[in-house]
Amino acid sequence: MEKRVLFRNLEAIVTFDPAEREIPGGWLVVEGNRITALGDGPPPPGPYHELIDGEGKVLVPGLVNTHHHLYQTLFRAVPGAADKELFDWLVFLYERWRGIDEEAVYVSALVGMMELLLSGCTTTTDHLYLFPRGKERLIDLEIEAAQELGIRFHPTRGSMSLSREEGGLPPPDVVQTEEEILADSERLISRYHDPSFGAMVRIALAPCSPFSVTRELMEETAELARRAGVLLHTHLAETEDEEEFCREKLGLRPVDYLEEVGWLEEDVWLAHLVHLNQDDIRKLGKARVGMAHCPSSNMLLGSGLAPVRELLAAGVKVGLAVDGSASNDHSNLIREARQAMLVARVRDGAEAMPARLALRLATLGGAQVLHREEEIGSLEPGKCADLVLFDVSGLEFSGAADPVAALLHCATQHADTVMVNGEILVRGGRLVNESLYDVVARHREIAARLVRG
Ligand SMILES: [Zn+2]
Repeated sequence: MEKRVLFRNLEAIVTFDPAEREIPGGWLVVEGNRITALGDGPPPPGPYHELIDGEGKVLVPGLVNTHHHLYQTLFRAVPGAADKELFDWLVFLYERWRGIDEEAVYVSALVGMMELLLSGCTTTTDHLYLFPRGKERLIDLEIEAAQELGIRFHPTRGSMSLSREEGGLPPPDVVQTEEEILADSERLISRYHDPSFGAMVRIALAPCSPFSVTRELMEETAELARRAGVLLHTHLAETEDEEEFCREKLGLRPVDYLEEVGWLEEDVWLAHLVHLNQDDIRKLGKARVGMAHCPSSNMLLGSGLAPVRELLAAGVKVGLAVDGSASNDHSNLIREARQAMLVARVRDGAEAMPARLALRLATLGGAQVLHREEEIGSLEPGKCADLVLFDVSGLEFSGAADPVAALLHCATQHADTVMVNGEILVRGGRLVNESLYDVVARHREIAARLVRG
């Protein structure tokens, strides 16, 4: 018999099913790696391999992080970068980033994904676009790290083909030729991409941004992705500088350029989408593209406030993201949900983003962005067992009348229990595999070496 786990006596279950059901005092059954039943009243009879008591705890679907640069956990709060805007920040950091190697990528991926898990994230993407000469197998190591941890992983094969000599921003030793980029993209897809239900690894293709690759590479990447049945991702409309750059070098605004290279399609998701006009919003919505909304990063770099409500109303699928750890500088997704709630209100008023909507974007919204809403993002029988318990019995929640809204209003800091694909990876706010914490010392050493340059 498959392993059966019963979560019971829950303060509340937030399902994000089509009826948006919330079940106070409910229970949920996991068999193997799937959710098989949930409800209120007496739970189904045992036997169970494990009973998890949910008193004082709220059960929500596992959170989905739609954009990150895990290697940047090595570059947090770097003097000289920490108070700069995007283009200056990039030019400064490229000089340090170019020193990354296999160990740096592996160790930083472990640390970033450990942080994500502890914050209730069960599926994450990553956008790795920096491949110093001779170090081309870096995504393989991120996948190894994800498999060691047990988190669901969507690495995106990033790319840069325009160095500063060719009008881009990065130094020449971290850009690759188009042939190299496309060949490695094909290799990663055939080696790792798993299209089956419940897959733990799926690949997407992700030129870094319209200003770091050529038009041909944008077009050829899209062609390859569509041939292979994988999604496409890039940064877009993050800053005013980018808009100016696109107008000057490409003769078009970022969204119009995207349309011209065949990227305004449903298989594309875009990080940021801050600087948009009404026509851009309409086009993005009509194309049903996805968005990785990164509020902390946008605020830290002073990039601006994304028009999330307008994008949702236009039909864009919105997920949340912590973005790179050099521009946030944490990998805590539940905190990012609170940030999304706050920033939408700053822009559009107090009714713009109720806590439940921010939580839905952090879960089901992210699943939709990754085209996985049939598998993850809500708590329903038949779906993958990716779920999170948040403890709302502590001091900081005392007196909260609505335990679900309290998750964001009272600023939850971390998850209590996290299950990914039927496996419990976090208990009592700690990773079950305690030996993982040993990696932090090595991470600090590597960070110190790289930042010294
Ligand atoms: Zn980014």
